[in-house]
This record gives sequence, C-alpha cells and structure tokens, in this order.
Amino acid sequence: MTTPVVGVLALQGDVREHLIALASADALARPVRRPEELAEVDGLVIPGGESTTISKLATLFGVMEPLRARVRGGMPVYGTCAGMIMLADKILDPRSGQETVGGIDMIVRRNAFGRQNESFEAAVDVKGVEGAPVEGVFIRAPWVESVGAQAEVLAEHEGHIVAVRQGNALATSFHPELTGDHRVHALFVEMARGNPRAGSL
Ligand code: GLN
Repeated sequence: MTTPVVGVLALQGDVREHLIALASADALARPVRRPEELAEVDGLVIPGGESTTISKLATLFGVMEPLRARVRGGMPVYGTCAGMIMLADKILDPRSGQETVGGIDMIVRRNAFGRQNESFEAAVDVKGVEGAPVEGVFIRAPWVESVGAQAEVLAEHEGHIVAVRQGNALATSFHPELTGDHRVHALFVEMARGNPRAGSL
C-alpha cells in the first residue's frame, strides 16, 4: 500500500493542525506554498482561516491558477471552513477581490452560522465515516445553500448542508483537524491514495 503525499495549503489558517491530523491518518504531510510544491503532492487540504486572505495570498504566490488546473485535472482536494469556501463554484457574498478555486458545484454562504462568539460544537453524522457521529467544530462557519446535480451532500446540521463531495473534492463547514478524531482525514487520505472504496460513497 503506497503512502500518499498530501499537502496543506500553507498561506494562512490552521495549517499545523491539518499536518498533524494527516500524519496520524497515515499520509506524508507537507506544507504547500508554491507551484513547485503543489506539483509534488497527491492531494491537498485547504485549511480553515479567512477565505479572502487565502484567496489573495494564493494569487500573490502564483498558486491560484496551478491549483485550479490540478483540481480540474482530478487531484483530490479537501477544504475545511474557509477551505470549503475556496472550493465553491459560487459564493453568495464575496468580499472585493475574493476569488475561489472552485471544483464543487455549490453555492456557499460565508459566516452563515454567525460570528466568532457564536461558534459551537455539534455531533455531525457524516456519510462515509463509519461509527459514531463526528464532533463538528464550527467557527464562523459557512453553510452550503444548494448543490448541483454532480455534488453529493454528506452531512447536514439543523437543516443546513455542512459536508459535500463532488468526485475528487471534499468540503466540510467544520474543522475535524481541531479534534483528536481523524476519521474525516482518513477518508480523504483514502481518496488521495486513489482507493476505489473512497470513491464509492
Ligand atoms: N468565516 C471565515 C471566512 O470567511 C471562515 C472561518 C473559518 O475558516 N473558521 O473565511
């Protein structure tokens, strides 16, 4: 069994936590800032943080276009929170200059669950993750208003879509990297390994 190399887009956000979660899910994890580094990974995590900042830095570092090309080309990619926003084909309320990588036919509303002080935790049942529900940490989290025909809803919280997959792209509103439970990362590492079981959700 090969060990996939999984990068974490390391421009802003909770990069370290993802590197740790990926390593404990049996990936070779490494930070990615530049196009040359992106070219060397089998899959990529876009972390939580601030999506406008990540978007602007990705353009500044020259990594936005190469990233779009790799996602279009089928590279497995997983976005949490701000990373989910980055994977949306459309965001409802972009800030000026805010662009996305795209990859999932979904419309995302930023900060939909409220402000920083309205952050919360909730048990979330995620399709494809076996066993007990995942502990979802929501921090100024987005939700998904709607998905297109190609996208599959993996989880909802109080009637709002909070996890989606479309082919090679996975996105959650919440932050599994902030808990000790690395089952969502394990699912993504299987996608990066090219495991057909991970593709049959
Ligand atoms: N609200 C943030 C944004 O718009 C996302 C918050 C997070 O990633 N925890 O980017």
